[in-house]
Amino acid sequence: MTDPGHSSRIGVFGGTFDPPQNGHLAVAQAVLERLELDHVLFVPAGDPWQKNVKTPAIDRFAMVEIALLGQERMSVSSVDIERQGPTYTIDTLTDLANLYPSAELFFILGDDAFSGITSWKNYEQLTQLATIVVVSRHGTPVEVPTKLSPSVNLLEMSALPISSTQCRDRIKEGHSLEGLVPAGVAEYIEKKNLYRRTT
Ligand code: ATP
Ligand code: MG
Repeated sequence: MTDPGHSSRIGVFGGTFDPPQNGHLAVAQAVLERLELDHVLFVPAGDPWQKNVKTPAIDRFAMVEIALLGQERMSVSSVDIERQGPTYTIDTLTDLANLYPSAELFFILGDDAFSGITSWKNYEQLTQLATIVVVSRHGTPVEVPTKLSPSVNLLEMSALPISSTQCRDRIKEGHSLEGLVPAGVAEYIEKKNLYRRTT
């Protein structure tokens, strides 16, 4: 695996990853190639404050690790699950900038996540730490807040129509996740009996 410590252009892909699905991998691969990044770090949120997430961070982290097995230029970072309290992207980027002081950071997110960015803590300071890369997920035009516009890179790609919500729903309904998540992730979900409980 490439060592992010020796990388000069690092993509930072934050998310809940509940579970990681093939759409996430396609995004990371596309951005890696199109922006000629050296490495993409997946950063599972410790406490995603805008969501009601029941799956423990340790399981979401483990599933990302499994999803990335064999990926030369991608790995998972624990900075957000090690930090106490709600996960704010400004803290994620600050931690990673300290860990990789000579790297240039690219924060990757889908258009749905980006549309809520002005509600994030200190959002106007994010661009001091990273270039923001927005991947069009739903094909709808993306509105970029003026405070961010010089540092936002809009990337059109044919995103896979897969979401983690869809994966959780399929498990609840007793369907398989074949083609939606890497096989190892499906095995982990089954072994740990995730997403079955309806409460
Ligand atoms: P959920 O349905 O639980 O919200 P999700 O599939 O949106 O899950 P997240 O962990 O919320 O997955 O997403 C992490 C990031 O990946 C977000 O920026 C999101 O926009 C992006 N993303 C997720 N799936 C896709 C996809 N199929 N295509 C493009 N971007 C995606
Ligand atoms: Mg989402």
